[in-house]
Amino acid sequence: MNERDPNCIFCKIVEGQLPSRKLYEDEELLAFHDIHPWAPVHFLVVPKRHILSMAHVTSEDAPLLGRMMSLIPQLAMQAGCSPYPHGGYRIMVNTGDHGGQEVHHLHLHVIGGPRPWIKG
Ligand code: 5GP
Ligand code: ZN
Repeated sequence: MNERDPNCIFCKIVEGQLPSRKLYEDEELLAFHDIHPWAPVHFLVVPKRHILSMAHVTSEDAPLLGRMMSLIPQLAMQAGCSPYPHGGYRIMVNTGDHGGQEVHHLHLHVIGGPRPWIKG
């Protein structure tokens, strides 16, 4: 698996070739606000490495996936979600065409804020 795909939008964001509103960054992960939010809070958590989708994740990626998930509670509060249980948020991973995946670089959506949202 390549580290970066020069044609991938999220690789370009990781490289700083495309702008994004960043929430968090470290050596292997980046979180940034979705460009077309469909709720008051909508951000994405991506690995910097170009993993195509959840279907391409292997057991070697388990620590990375764990780090992506475990960042979310803090980032969600920082992004404006309200606390559990009356606030909260949804975590979504679209995978492949039937899953509605449009950008083929693994990403977790975090969606929150007062409902009803536009979709979902
Ligand atoms: P998918 O349908 O692949 O799960 O979701 C891709 C998400 O990426 C969409 O919600 C879309 O709005 C977001 N997105 C696509 N291009 C860009 C971009 O250039 N910048 C940002 N911040 N988000 C993007
Ligand atoms: Zn990529």
